[in-house]
Amino acid sequence: MTLQAPKGTFDWLPPRSERALAVREALTGPARRAGYGYIETPVFEDTALFVRGVGESTDIVSKEMYTFEDKGGRSITLRPEGTASVVRAVLQHGLHNNGQLPVKLWYSGSQFRYERAQKGRYRHFWQVGAEALGSEDPALDAELILLAVDGYAALGLTGVRLLVNTLGDKVCRPVYRAALQDFLRGLDLDEATRARIEINPLRVLDDKRPEVQARLAGAPLVVDHLCEACKAYHEEVRSLLTAAGVAYTDDPRLVRGLDYYTRTTFEFVHDGLGSQSAVGGGGRYDGLSEMLGGPPLPSVGWALGVDRTVLAMEAEGLFGDESAEARVRVYGVPLGEEARRRMFLLVTELRRAGLAADMSFGGKGVKGAMKGADRSGAGYAVILGERDIAEGVAQVKDLASGDQTAVPLAEIVTMLKERLDK
Ligand code: AMP
Repeated sequence: MTLQAPKGTFDWLPPRSERALAVREALTGPARRAGYGYIETPVFEDTALFVRGVGESTDIVSKEMYTFEDKGGRSITLRPEGTASVVRAVLQHGLHNNGQLPVKLWYSGSQFRYERAQKGRYRHFWQVGAEALGSEDPALDAELILLAVDGYAALGLTGVRLLVNTLGDKVCRPVYRAALQDFLRGLDLDEATRARIEINPLRVLDDKRPEVQARLAGAPLVVDHLCEACKAYHEEVRSLLTAAGVAYTDDPRLVRGLDYYTRTTFEFVHDGLGSQSAVGGGGRYDGLSEMLGGPPLPSVGWALGVDRTVLAMEAEGLFGDESAEARVRVYGVPLGEEARRRMFLLVTELRRAGLAADMSFGGKGVKGAMKGADRSGAGYAVILGERDIAEGVAQVKDLASGDQTAVPLAEIVTMLKERLDK
């Protein structure tokens, strides 16, 4: 048997792979136009970064990390998310000391989680992210949410819903946490869930099982335990969203699986995706820098799933001819060895002139090569036979109409450029 991609992974193949590129461009465009600079961090980090930065009580760290020892005996982990690495890089290079705060960054790349694979949930997936570090300002939370909203809108998605909540801060969150634990300890729950009550009670609220959700009906909510500062902050974020015309739903049960989130938390969901409905999410993480040994650096950010956004767009039937950008416009059909030589150079010239061009390889006859021309989606074929070479011309065939004319070789590039640039 030939080798297969590992379980939970898949290959992006053309032309569908163009969709992923288009989604990445569109989702990050608004952030790039809002002063966010591109950052690329390593795909693997010291395991300690995620243990400290994501939190030992999370599913990610306790069950899902791809961790291994490298040949130098270091414990290395394939990144399961982007935020911890971004904060690590900012602290390492002192970006927060180099100028104005917030430091605004965006990223794009692969993430790795050993999850139960199903549609929309993979072990290797692709996220784009944006982070703003070093400011505590409700307008920054609102800005980030808006940038994601605009990214989805740029793709034409209409079915993305925004859920918002606040998780409180280090003043009110512990009080709420204790109240929640009291309530949860009184419920009839399985052993694993009971253990979770002690280490990460907020995550119990996130349990998707209907029987658990039913028991959670009367659970205390963080909104009822907010301190004045958190309440005012959250009101301002909501009011800015409303002022900017963003529709959202308050979801007092919305929690995030990562320990470092404080205050604003949000998620984008799409109803066309089945159980894996989250297309993106984020929030404020005021404590993360300190957890990584840095100074206080209140920050907010999001990560959007590229794979799931493609699925959401497919569910909405939004893709037309996604390969149009990359599509070959001119296709060379050389007939014979001398023709191949000439065509190779002509195609090179066309490409250098900015026209996407391809040619037939492998010494095909005219029939096979013309089939290639049709498959390529090109508008024109340039056919070059021995007699053409002798006459210093090539046959330029309009593949839509079938019209064919002999054009002097020296004029082909100019002529095709004129026709195709129109
Ligand atoms: P998270 O970092 O868990 O907040 O995830 C942010 C977004 O990444 C989610 O809303 C999903 O769109 C996407 N995502 C998370 N985990 C996976 C996965 N295993 N497979 C595909 N997409 C994922």
